[in-house]
Amino acid sequence: MNPYQHGEVFVTEDGAETDLDLGHYERFIDENLTRVNNVTTGQVYKAVIEKERRGEYLGATVQVIPHITNEIKAHVKRVAEASHAEVCIVEVGGTVGDIESLPFLEAIRQMRADVGEENVMYAHLTLVPHLGAPDELKTKPTQHSVRELRGIGIQPDAIVCRTQTVLPMPQELKEKIALFCDVPRSAVVQNVDAPSIYGVPLNLENEGLADVAVRKLRLDRAVPHLGEWESIVNRALHPKHRVTIALVGKYVELKDAYISINEALYHAGIAHDTAVDIRRIDSEVIEEDGVETLYGAHGILVAPGFGARGVKGKLAAIQYARVQRVPYLGICYGMQIACIEFARNVCGIAEAMTTEVDETSPEPVIDFMPEQRDLEVYGGTMRLGAYSCTLVPGTLTARAYGELEISERHRHRYEFNNRYRPIFEEHGMRFAGFHNAGKTQLVEVVELPESMHPWFVGTQAHPEFKSRPNHPAPLYRDFVGAALRHSYPQPPARASEAERQTRTAHRI
Ligand code: GLN
Repeated sequence: MNPYQHGEVFVTEDGAETDLDLGHYERFIDENLTRVNNVTTGQVYKAVIEKERRGEYLGATVQVIPHITNEIKAHVKRVAEASHAEVCIVEVGGTVGDIESLPFLEAIRQMRADVGEENVMYAHLTLVPHLGAPDELKTKPTQHSVRELRGIGIQPDAIVCRTQTVLPMPQELKEKIALFCDVPRSAVVQNVDAPSIYGVPLNLENEGLADVAVRKLRLDRAVPHLGEWESIVNRALHPKHRVTIALVGKYVELKDAYISINEALYHAGIAHDTAVDIRRIDSEVIEEDGVETLYGAHGILVAPGFGARGVKGKLAAIQYARVQRVPYLGICYGMQIACIEFARNVCGIAEAMTTEVDETSPEPVIDFMPEQRDLEVYGGTMRLGAYSCTLVPGTLTARAYGELEISERHRHRYEFNNRYRPIFEEHGMRFAGFHNAGKTQLVEVVELPESMHPWFVGTQAHPEFKSRPNHPAPLYRDFVGAALRHSYPQPPARASEAERQTRTAHRI
């Protein structure tokens, strides 16, 4: 999955690599989803072809309608039944009129006949653009897209108008849309740009969208408990402090490439009443221009990644964080490269590398563990999804979690090479968490003791995937806390060591 096309790859507990939308759903509904919560055209076709090969269609001609559409409906029904939920929300991605989404729209159209008119509600999201010069909101695109939708047999029950302007939509405009699109006026709701994304559900509630759903689906009316959500939004909008975090990665020009990391930092900020300004830094820019771009950052996070490109810049960023005592959080590759940096510059292992970059490295501090292939890995050679981790009491990480048995999601192939544990420990690195994989213990968390650094942690996992606005990921929360402490004036690091370290060249 190329981040330029998909944004980040979101990973579920059961190890599915999905579109980033699923991450948003988890953050908003505070529930873990699984691989069945995401269905793609490829999966549907694969299932149909397999059924055909097994002879389940008894030789009949396989067609989009009914075979593909039946498969889509069966998938939705399976998810609904397995979840025991009262209401199943299905998002059909894309835009009405896309060739790709036609079978999906036909499937949800048929759903009304399958489960009964009173059990189906269609909410249609449309764009209501604002024209700057005449200062006008235009309803034409809504009218057109509703006409398209009705052309394929779906009459929306609610129209959600996405507007960029913060001005409320005038009543006459809502009335006009209601009239043209054949819905009651109360079923036209505005979904306005919110200063915090977590303000969106509150806006929709104010606009009465849930009332439309309750009426249509004949559900019992209940007073929504929005207190916790309101307080999150309130705190997000009225921070008392401000910190700058440097996010060092390869895909920094594309904001969506690190969306769960951005959100986890945002959640951590909410916990500290702090606005987190993220300074995105391309690791290749550090390679060219040096670490100056990191100056003034109160915390440095090296992002996950793959391959050799940008590794040199990440090494330099980590060295700067370590020597200058800037709080550091390394996520996955950011943890692995922190180990390489430590091996080279603290343990004196000049050739230290990961075999991902140099397969023949004489010092494979990060390596592919062959024994783990049989023990651990399903569906390829990656460690994917939730893995347990036992933390070492008294470490920064154990304190952050407040418990010793934790579980976080993973997505990587390489591991810390246990052969190097003794020399790392001799030089002060602390191993703070392990996954017990049969005979092998896999290193999950490394950190520097507080005698060496104010806050330096690298984790093999991706705690950002489980971060929620109301339950920030513990390591992100404490990282932002450390950055906040660091934002107050600090004595500079001893210049001699700092200079010596910064001058060390990194070989790859
Ligand atoms: N490339 C590294 C590995 O596969 C790290 C992956 C990551 O950062 N998600 O082990």
